[in-house]
Amino acid sequence: MLHLPGRLRARRAGMSSHYLTRTAAAITHSAQNMLAVGPRRLISSSPRNVQQAAVASIRVEEQYESYVHQPQKAAAPRGVPYWQRVGIWKDVTEEKFLNYQWQIKNTVQGESRLLQFLESVLPERLPAPRDANSPLSKIKTRNDFLGEVKEAIRIAPMAIRITPHILSVIDWNNPFEDPIRRQFVPLRASLLPDHPKLTLDSLGEENDSPVKGLVHRYPDKALFLATSVCNVYCRFCTRSYAIGADTETVTKNSLKPTRRRWEEMFDYIASTPALSDIVISGGDAYYLTPDQLYDIGTRLLAIPHIRRFRFATKGLAVCPSRILDPTDSWTSALIAVSNAGRKVGKMVAMHTHFNHPSEMTWVSRAASQKLFAAGVVVRNQSVLLRGVNDDLGTMKALIRGLADMAITPYYVYQGDMVAGVEDLRTPLRTILELESQIRGSIAGFMTPQFVVDLPGGGGKRLAASFQSYDSKTGVSRFVAPAVKGGETVYEYHDPEWSLPKAEGRGAAITQAL
Ligand code: SF4
Repeated sequence: MLHLPGRLRARRAGMSSHYLTRTAAAITHSAQNMLAVGPRRLISSSPRNVQQAAVASIRVEEQYESYVHQPQKAAAPRGVPYWQRVGIWKDVTEEKFLNYQWQIKNTVQGESRLLQFLESVLPERLPAPRDANSPLSKIKTRNDFLGEVKEAIRIAPMAIRITPHILSVIDWNNPFEDPIRRQFVPLRASLLPDHPKLTLDSLGEENDSPVKGLVHRYPDKALFLATSVCNVYCRFCTRSYAIGADTETVTKNSLKPTRRRWEEMFDYIASTPALSDIVISGGDAYYLTPDQLYDIGTRLLAIPHIRRFRFATKGLAVCPSRILDPTDSWTSALIAVSNAGRKVGKMVAMHTHFNHPSEMTWVSRAASQKLFAAGVVVRNQSVLLRGVNDDLGTMKALIRGLADMAITPYYVYQGDMVAGVEDLRTPLRTILELESQIRGSIAGFMTPQFVVDLPGGGGKRLAASFQSYDSKTGVSRFVAPAVKGGETVYEYHDPEWSLPKAEGRGAAITQAL
């Protein structure tokens, strides 16, 4: 009864038989998970629990309805083919660029592919950086640039992986100052020595994980780390200890998307009634298959005490075309889970991660509009990064750009104290100044919270809520009574380049963007 109507409806909607088989299998699997595996494990067979299982059964059917009903029309909006600025993609059509499989195939991964790409895109002679005293000014040619990238990769904590969308919005004729390049492609000359307090797991997530990959820090919320793979690898990733491939300097504690590991996490969630809120992250929820996304969503919806959850993905910012790709069903699965949540009064959202207005193109706007029209709640979490978005004009444009795409600018994070990317970190005073300038310039509900995720696991606090801030030592102190009790004091340390005692050096380094 579950399958045939869906097949007919899906056929009418023009889906392939391959899609039908996969979808039917996925739904059957989800139903089995919820009705056989999940509930059997989660609840015993008391009359009340039998009733709960019946409710879960109805939910599966409702979600199934939504899943197969998602539009699969190839109605691609037209816009400037910005990717054609990249020589190797000058003949790539809009249809091809929007295709997710094409995006995956052309994602630049690893050192040798990056160098090959850079060879093709950089001018032979590079323009001088804005500041003539910058250490970057020694890079004069394409070959110099390649050498610098190679040296930086040798000591970088994050592997290289960059999508065609991101590679297309970088100004390769001005690569030194480009804010997107700075986030993904390291240059040896701009790296700075680590502050002694930096670590790879600055938030102490592994200490707060009762089950591998599940971080339970806040009383009512847990982080479900579904995978350790992303569509891009950001240089400044807060989970450098786990995300992406091993590098020469870091062996990752990777989190494979295995059913066995997930089951342990589901068991913990189901047996912890204090939890009401789950963040499904990683890695990136975009890297889950549509079936996996759907499975996780329906499993969480079936747990009575889980009232809300969000899928965390940078996908909309770094590969927005997938949302518009009529041959890919990730978005349909997300919309289905969101609709199913709404029907049972549970809030399902997507949290994304734009850091700069240049990351937004007409594809991003069309993708956001598609999600908005389908009722998917989207919020954004930016990271404050030096030379990327640490000036008032850029941060204002970022926030307004998000608001105009109907995305709530939820957080701006102070850069975490993560090892290996000190060139991207700002002192606390920068975020304080930005907040003071921005508050009041846009509606309150579109004003982000400017926060510090406290090193060592205190959770997020408003940056302005510090107990003390010594601008000479660069040490700010915070407490987090609701998270770890009021006794523990958490310290955030400004980067050494910004401290007065390093003024001579700091001034030079500041210019080394
Ligand atoms: S997308 Fe998120 S999890 Fe992945 S590397 Fe970037 S910051 Fe880390």
